Amino acid sequence: MMRNVKIDREGCIACGSCYALCPKVFEDDGTGTAQVVEEYMKEGPEVGEVGDDIGCVENAEDSCPVNVITVS
Ligand code: SF4
Repeated sequence: MMRNVKIDREGCIACGSCYALCPKVFEDDGTGTAQVVEEYMKEGPEVGEVGDDIGCVENAEDSCPVNVITVS
């Protein structure tokens, strides 16, 4: 099963948590704001799709201090 990952980048405060905890899926876009890495990008830098084997997306979702990451 695939899961969707969405980052509301406008609300991102560039804390770095998501890409520290889950660098396979999240990265710094160069300004500190998070984006989905190219490998998993689906619809631009805000939306990605990952397989069940990548569990760290939930850790990233839980760690975001402004709750702008949604895993569904
Ligand atoms: S954890 Fe949230 S606020 Fe921090 S860099 Fe990631 S998306 Fe932005």
